[in-house]
Amino acid sequence: MDLRRNKPDPQLQEQIELEEIRLLHGGTPFSYTASFVIVLIIYTILQDHVVSPRNLNIWLFIILSVLFVRSIDSFLFSRASEEEQKEKKWRIRFIAGTGIAGFCWGLLPWLGYTHEVEYFAFIIICLVGVIAGSLATLSYRWETMALFLLPSSLMLALRVVIEDHQYSNATTLVMAVFIFFSLTAGKRVFNNTQQNIRLRLEADNRERAIELMHQKQALHLQNTPLAIIEFDLDLNVTEWNKSAETMFGYRRHEAIGENILRLILPRDSSEEAEKLWQRLLNYEAVIGAIIENKTKNRDKIFCEWFITPLTDQQHRIVGIAAMALDITDKKINEQAIIKSKEAAEKASHAKSDFLSSMSHELRTPLNAILGFTQLLKYEKTLTDKQKSHIEEISSAGNLLLELVNQILDLARIEKGHLQLSLEKVNLADTLSECQAMIAPLAEQNQLSLDINTRVEGYVIADYTRLKQVMLNLLSNAIKYNRKNGSIRIRIKQKQDDRIYIGIIDTGPGISEELQQEIFQPFNRLNAASNIEGTGIGLSISKQLMEMMGGSIGVISKIDEGSEFWIELPGKLAMTTAIESETRAPRLEVLDNPDSSVSILVAEDNPTNQALILNQLEALGFTADLVENGQEALSAIARKDYQLLITDCNMPVMDGYKLAHTLRQRGYSQLPILALTADAFPEKRADCIKAGMNDLITKPVDLKTLKNMLEKYLN
Ligand code: ADP
Repeated sequence: MDLRRNKPDPQLQEQIELEEIRLLHGGTPFSYTASFVIVLIIYTILQDHVVSPRNLNIWLFIILSVLFVRSIDSFLFSRASEEEQKEKKWRIRFIAGTGIAGFCWGLLPWLGYTHEVEYFAFIIICLVGVIAGSLATLSYRWETMALFLLPSSLMLALRVVIEDHQYSNATTLVMAVFIFFSLTAGKRVFNNTQQNIRLRLEADNRERAIELMHQKQALHLQNTPLAIIEFDLDLNVTEWNKSAETMFGYRRHEAIGENILRLILPRDSSEEAEKLWQRLLNYEAVIGAIIENKTKNRDKIFCEWFITPLTDQQHRIVGIAAMALDITDKKINEQAIIKSKEAAEKASHAKSDFLSSMSHELRTPLNAILGFTQLLKYEKTLTDKQKSHIEEISSAGNLLLELVNQILDLARIEKGHLQLSLEKVNLADTLSECQAMIAPLAEQNQLSLDINTRVEGYVIADYTRLKQVMLNLLSNAIKYNRKNGSIRIRIKQKQDDRIYIGIIDTGPGISEELQQEIFQPFNRLNAASNIEGTGIGLSISKQLMEMMGGSIGVISKIDEGSEFWIELPGKLAMTTAIESETRAPRLEVLDNPDSSVSILVAEDNPTNQALILNQLEALGFTADLVENGQEALSAIARKDYQLLITDCNMPVMDGYKLAHTLRQRGYSQLPILALTADAFPEKRADCIKAGMNDLITKPVDLKTLKNMLEKYLN
């Protein structure tokens, strides 16, 4: 194996080097003892045959000293701690020591030189033996082996060459072959040893890692907040961790071997459990299933389960591993949130119902107030003082009506019941309509009004709601203006196909700080108390603009005036070709009615009875009156009526039932108009569903009533 190719990581390399130095030092007690014995034998045998006994003594001294020093070094190494043994110094000392020892052995043929051939041969044999023997212990590190072998063998070879015996050449050749093979063999031994060390260390490391993993798993198993449970194919528990104990109340020894279903599932959930079991047997993991479980104390808890089948090598299911998380608190919170959401929805419905009935309750008396006030205006005998009082009642009543309408709008927007129909709205028509409606008010306040109604173009909007927003802004510009001030409208095309409409007044202006709050409901800022208002108009305008895909804002400077602007998708035309899809309805003047027309009115409230009869009379009609649906049916059976006006809520038989019965009895041509104080759109739907043709909302305006009559009596 090529070691360079599989370069070990630095940590493993360090371990290998530690192992090498340990093996090298580990072999020294035997090799040093052997060397000591061989040195003594050589010394004893050569003593009487060497040329210089003094030199032999020197050799003996040197080699024993080296052996001694190296023994001490090995001893110190064996005593060192693992960390110390990793230090480089041991390696350097050992390699240097080996080189010195090799050199000392190489000195033997020189210091222990003898002329006697057989003794010289003895020296050669001893040295070759020592070198060969060293291979076993030194080849753990190739350099140490080479450092020992080269000085000792080369010095011996040199001595043989110098000797110049007849066998010198042959001996030298044998020596060279010996050195070559020794080095090659040593290298091979070194490589194998390295590889063995490496494999053994890697195996050790792997084993240790696995053991660590097992320890960690055991730790996690015991300390995780997840209940970890395993069971076999008979559903008997085989593993039950600490969290399972806490979660379900059974101790480990109580749970092991018990049937899992009996332990933690309520009785009535066997069908659910069976389904899960079938999924698992189909090798399907169950992830995040929320199951109702029971504890030892029979308490109900909710757990989220992660269950997977365990398989053997043949892919057969041998058991099931499951993890569970107690989510009872989360579940309880969820249920509480659902409950409070339901309660909030109920409260919201109650609020809407309250607003609806409030509007009904307020509109009924308002109907009487405004209706009779309007009728009073036609009286010819009134004094100026009385006329002025009637004006006061009329304006207070109208303000109250505006407030009721605005609150209803707000409620409808909140309930999401306000339906808009977006279409191309002709700007000129809208502006003319607004001007017609607002001009008297401007005149009354001595303000100049400048609206260019010849603008050609359109915006995409709901016609009625756009007019509502513009009238609100215009009436504010009149209300919050100075004496002899002015109101101007400017319109411009913006780049992104939007139209900008600015309503500019010369009023007191609004500080930047207050501009932030101006679109909040019921915020009248610091409007003077003598200026009538509700503080809702701008908030409704903002919501309406947003619903129409537009925007609203204000630019204002204190003492200079304000510019309230709206922006809507649309285009200013370069030509006059734009046709409005919605034509602003124009009010028509009263005509002389046909007095032969017979009208039936069904109304139970005496005030409203008097009002509608008087209103009809003012318009030139006479009508018969009944108090409920039942009476209306009898009256219609007796006489041929051209129109029926009916209240919706009446005793005995209400307006819906009356309309329904009439349509059933074949009165399909009779126009039926509902009279209601309820302004919610659902009401209109109910009326139409019951078979009525149209709906008049209270308080009834004379002009509206006239228009209705004309429409249905034609
Ligand atoms: P209202 O006019 O019924 O009070 P709005 O929502 O229409 O309610 O307006 C809110 C407040 O904003 C007003 O009370 C007034 O203080 C201020 N405001 C509105 N329009 C103007 C304006 N053109 N100039 C100065 N202040 C204004």
